[in-house]
Amino acid sequence: LDPEEFRRQGHMVIDFLADYYENVHKYPVRSQVEPGYLKKILPESAPNQPESLETILDDITNHIVPGITHWMSPNYFAYFPASGSTAGFLGEMLSTGFNAVCFNWMSSPAATELEMIVTDWLGKLLALPEKFLFSGGGGGVLQGTTCEAILCTVTAARDKMLNKIGKDQIGRLVVYGSDQTHCSLKKAAQIAGIHPANFRAVRTFKSDAFGLNPEELRKVVCADVEAGLVPLYLCPTVGTTSSTAVDQLRGLCSVAEEHGMWVHVDAAYAGSACICPEFRHFIDGVEGATSFSFNAHKWFFTNLDCCCLWVQEPQDLVNALSTNPEYLRNKATESQKVVDYKDWQIALSRRFRAMKLWMVMRSYGVANLRNFLRGHVKTAKLFEELMSADERFEIVVPTNFAMVCFRFNPKKEDRTTGPELDQINKLNMRLLEDMNSSGRLYMTHSVIGGEYVIRFAAGATLTEEKHVRCAWKVVQEHAEALLGEQKW
Ligand code: PLP
Repeated sequence: LDPEEFRRQGHMVIDFLADYYENVHKYPVRSQVEPGYLKKILPESAPNQPESLETILDDITNHIVPGITHWMSPNYFAYFPASGSTAGFLGEMLSTGFNAVCFNWMSSPAATELEMIVTDWLGKLLALPEKFLFSGGGGGVLQGTTCEAILCTVTAARDKMLNKIGKDQIGRLVVYGSDQTHCSLKKAAQIAGIHPANFRAVRTFKSDAFGLNPEELRKVVCADVEAGLVPLYLCPTVGTTSSTAVDQLRGLCSVAEEHGMWVHVDAAYAGSACICPEFRHFIDGVEGATSFSFNAHKWFFTNLDCCCLWVQEPQDLVNALSTNPEYLRNKATESQKVVDYKDWQIALSRRFRAMKLWMVMRSYGVANLRNFLRGHVKTAKLFEELMSADERFEIVVPTNFAMVCFRFNPKKEDRTTGPELDQINKLNMRLLEDMNSSGRLYMTHSVIGGEYVIRFAAGATLTEEKHVRCAWKVVQEHAEALLGEQKW
């Protein structure tokens, strides 16, 4: 690693990316390549001799960029946004540059201590109960993804319960979510050895805007208890993936408390918004939870990956996840005065993620972060308003944050079953595919209560009002073309 060559090449890559951001709106948002496209272009084996960065960047422009779906495009409205930012990028660059492998305090004290500080900062911004902060006996950790956070907490809950009721009782443990909960819960339960028959996706209803109702949960839990099973873990969601529904935290936590369950609140997408006082009410009731997480890499201007997890009792994670081989022994660990984050997560090695979160919070400041989030909510409102003026479209569920779920229903069918529903669903499938194939924007879909809905998720960093107006035009143009065809 030659510092001067690093400087030269580093500048080239930054220039390349600055040009990319300047031009990203020109690329088809959803990649339009066919499976296997790259294998046809690239050589069969690695080069024997070094190649210049210039040559490699040319290949990136010609072969890699066409195969990228442009999450940074201002016309990106799919899934949830990956709201990367300059500060997030530069923070990531610094941690990559230091390349520290921060498994325990000793392996990079600054990484651990900064992580403790930024998770406390963020916990305070979210007005999390003191018991989730280091200052209150709990604590936060930065993991890669929500999937990991859920797996770690399910594992901690499992071991805590089995220590009480006996290790051979694992077959009686039950995990609860709703039919709208992210699939990471099911995966975590599977990996943690919960019997597949003991995973409950409790039904939600349109009348509750697809949020999990405590009474529905109670019925299912009581039936399980009567059958001799042991309720273990409940995962309510604040901002579901399909429709940003919000589960009724307070009531759900009460049901869970009656049965001694671990409650993990998954606010992967919507958690960020709760730093704004006007949205904080969405997590009211979190004081009854055992753990809470959200993804800073979704809607908090922090480049992938960064899931923030807080737990009330860090020792539960440590009991389930720690190993202490001889080669990691050190004085700091033995003093018991430090946090060794390797014991709070699945992997041993870990990245210096706190750097980018710290950069984001310092470079923008809380007031700006709140205003960015409010801006995205306004963006979604604008799209909703434009759409509401055209009676051929329906907003399918209330818009809570910065996502609008809609469908095209020109004949105004109100049936929710039968051939009419099939026909509207197919029409919307076709509309979405046509829009995405045009490359002008990218949206994705979900099926909620049997209805195929198109999701417009605002929050991409470069989106401005003109892109939203243009997106609405794209929707209308494609919808009208379909009506003209009358094939559906
Ligand atoms: N939970 C919710 C509500 C989500 O929306 C998502 C992803 O969109 C996840 C969990 C999974 O997040 P990750 O990809 O970080 O595991």
